[in-house]
Amino acid sequence: MRESVVIVGGGIAGLSLALQAASDFDITVLETEFQPGYHSTGRSAAVLHIPFENDVVHRLTLESVEFFRSPPRGFKDVADSLSTLRIGRIKDEPKIEQFFDTWIERCPWLLRLSQNQLHAKCPILSSDFSNGIIDRRSLHLDVHHLLTCTRQAFKELGGRVETNFRVVSIETVQGSWKLTSDNGLTVNADIIVNAAGAWVDEIAKLADVQPLGVQAKRRTGIRCKPEVFSSSWPMCYLISDHLYFKPEGQSLMLSPCDATPSEPCDAQPEMIDIAQAIARLEENTTLREVVPEECWAGLRVFVPDQCPVIGYDCDHPGFFWYGAFGGFGVQTAPGCSKLGAQLLRHSPFVNTAVSVRELSPSRLIRSV
Ligand SMILES: Cc1cc2nc3c(=O)[nH]c(=O)nc-3n(C[C@H](O)[C@H](O)[C@H](O)COP(=O)(O)OP(=O)(O)OC[C@H]3O[C@@H](n4cnc5c(N)ncnc54)[C@H](O)[C@@H]3O)c2cc1C
Repeated sequence: MRESVVIVGGGIAGLSLALQAASDFDITVLETEFQPGYHSTGRSAAVLHIPFENDVVHRLTLESVEFFRSPPRGFKDVADSLSTLRIGRIKDEPKIEQFFDTWIERCPWLLRLSQNQLHAKCPILSSDFSNGIIDRRSLHLDVHHLLTCTRQAFKELGGRVETNFRVVSIETVQGSWKLTSDNGLTVNADIIVNAAGAWVDEIAKLADVQPLGVQAKRRTGIRCKPEVFSSSWPMCYLISDHLYFKPEGQSLMLSPCDATPSEPCDAQPEMIDIAQAIARLEENTTLREVVPEECWAGLRVFVPDQCPVIGYDCDHPGFFWYGAFGGFGVQTAPGCSKLGAQLLRHSPFVNTAVSVRELSPSRLIRSV
């Protein structure tokens, strides 16, 4: 008989691992909300950058990019190509230089742009932007489609997804786990996968497992429709890290790159962050009187080294961590879920650029 696994959390993390592991385990995904993806997954900026965050995240992205470029059957049109510009003024030259030096060996397609080239790519930029790097290998991801296809493929393999199931208690009964929902339903399993996003530590506490001490940080997104607009512009990141904006269909999506520490919650945008984003867009471009049409916020969840945590807990062999996906959980989902499924079935990594140790919860010093 196959071992039973319950995955707590129906975001991109929980569902993509469920799909990868479905042929080896009997899996049930439990999700608090009425639909999967309601929290961080449904609120992302939906991009993939290869030179991103740190070396581990970069290698996990490389493990994932082929999935998006040539998706398997059933996942058609899950990604579009996107160019990304890192931009700065004269005073930002050292930061542009540093970004280029950090990534050029691993991403030799990155190109420095002259001031004229920069403004030709994105004509709304203020005239004093003088430095830029273009990455033509970023992708725009259709997260809703990705999640829907993942859930569908998982169900076709016999997997179960229970929504409106908020886990409120976890006990061990005769060597297996018993999870109970707020309305009294129960599910038993041999293994718990903790993919509860901002709530991973809360789930650990319910199971009497020492939490990791993750930190959730709120980030705001805004959609607007400025009158002068072109869907052919690249995504632009100010190298000073205070604003990014990108075309999305007929709209422009922007973020003030906020990272405000938060408790796990249904994050909502704050007026101050929306106002700052709009002010920065107007300060750095020729756009004026920009009116936000849609605003949202979501939580990005980190441990101190800003790498994900994937693997069995060292003190509780039936408790598997799958969290801390920061600002890269969508773009690394294919690679992380493949590696996660191998760890879940205790198989060694073969032909991967990432080591077990780099992902393991045992690398973290837990003080909470
Ligand atoms: C504004 C913003 C922009 C971003 N941009 C990008 C980007 O461009 N590219 C990228 O790759 N990443 C991006 N991210 C990060 C990405 O969204 C996350 O890394 C990813 O969604 C994390 O997925 P997850 O499944 O771990 O978390 P979630 O999607 O939050 O899923 C966790 C789930 O667990 C459920 N849960 C919690 N507690 C319980 C319980 N007790 N019982 C049952 N279920 C429970 C929750 O309801 C939730 O649905 C962005 C994030 C934000 C906020």
